[in-house]
Amino acid sequence: MESLYDDVMMEHIKNVRNYREIEAPTNIAKGTNPLCGDQFSVFLKLDNDIVVDLSFQCECCGISMASASMMTEVIKGNSLKDARKVIAEFKDFMRDNVDSLSVGGDLAAVAETVVKFPSRINCALLGWKTLETALKGEKEITVK
Ligand code: ZN
Repeated sequence: MESLYDDVMMEHIKNVRNYREIEAPTNIAKGTNPLCGDQFSVFLKLDNDIVVDLSFQCECCGISMASASMMTEVIKGNSLKDARKVIAEFKDFMRDNVDSLSVGGDLAAVAETVVKFPSRINCALLGWKTLETALKGEKEITVK
């Protein structure tokens, strides 16, 4: 399985970003991907419609962990409106594998992994969909 992760993915797995709980979060959601067995908790702190803090914890595979690690980096500090826009772009990007992702950067590595292993798309999307659920003020999502 070592060919599954490239250097960018491995770096996010070894040095995972924002992997912690937030004290007094404003929103928390749990996400499950039954196919792989991934289970996520996403913690969010909103202040005046700004995502001032964002973190996650999971029992999950490397693809979902790396994707969520990158997600916390690109979303933190955004307004609610911009956060939703980036999430929508990422979902389109994963579905169509287009080169239209304005935030770009490390996230291209997730798309490349999913191109090689299409059945793992829900792993890549789980953290993002869990965040989307938290932003809506909902508590739980299962991706199928
Ligand atoms: Zn997975």
